[in-house]
Amino acid sequence: MTEPSKKDELINTLNKEIQKLKKEKQDILQSMNLDENYLKPKYECPLCNDTGYIITESSNNMCNCLKQELLNLEYNSSNLNKLDKENFSTFNLNKYSNKIDFEKYNINISPQENMKNILKIVKKFIFNFDNPDEKNLLFTGNTGLGKTFLSNCIANEILQMNKTVLYQTAPIMLDSIIDYRFNRTDGDIYKHILNVDLLIIDDLGTESINSMKFTELFNIINSRILSNNSKTLISTNLSVNELLKNYDERIFSRFAGNYNICKFFGDDIRLQK
Ligand SMILES: [Zn+2]
Repeated sequence: MTEPSKKDELINTLNKEIQKLKKEKQDILQSMNLDENYLKPKYECPLCNDTGYIITESSNNMCNCLKQELLNLEYNSSNLNKLDKENFSTFNLNKYSNKIDFEKYNINISPQENMKNILKIVKKFIFNFDNPDEKNLLFTGNTGLGKTFLSNCIANEILQMNKTVLYQTAPIMLDSIIDYRFNRTDGDIYKHILNVDLLIIDDLGTESINSMKFTELFNIINSRILSNNSKTLISTNLSVNELLKNYDERIFSRFAGNYNICKFFGDDIRLQK
């Protein structure tokens, strides 16, 4: 054994000093009833500590929080900006009638009961988001029944899971893909449409459809099913029968096989106070 050197001794003394100061800091915080993490910085993103990048020895990747900021700036700004108002805590089941009206809706449950069932499917979708076996979502039904509201609730939850969300209406999405195909824009939007964790396609059925758009729509729906680690939420005012009539067999069979189809019915909830 060699004698501890002067240097070791010095380090030892400093370490003791550090411990003493740490303890003192803890005691002060405690005496003021403050949490021991009170003085630590608070990051909005626990993944990258708000740096925007996740850096490891072998890679340097953009964090989802920064990807999402860029998506919001470029594409989502007008649509995903009501998330603080439209989330599950503000979702009100009482806006849906609890009266069964078989003559009107041809079904033996009330709009409220139906909505409860849809909420169950939606919560399962969120909970199992990373499970490749969990199906995608297709919302059908008239306007004013809360389809967009519920889409926003879902977007909110998925964003809180540090995932990326892209909102597109079907007409704008298909137009921008055609623009890209004709080299009128770069391929950024197409890449995002294929790769984003949750793609929300709103207003399906309001686009002017042609065979080229059919093909693109099919490709997107199909590639996203095959990719296994992303999910798609589609909203449409068309009924299931109209979907079958308006879109070809290939697209419809993807809906039937890989989507949970949620049928919204009831009175326009926007007209109620
Ligand atoms: Zn981050």
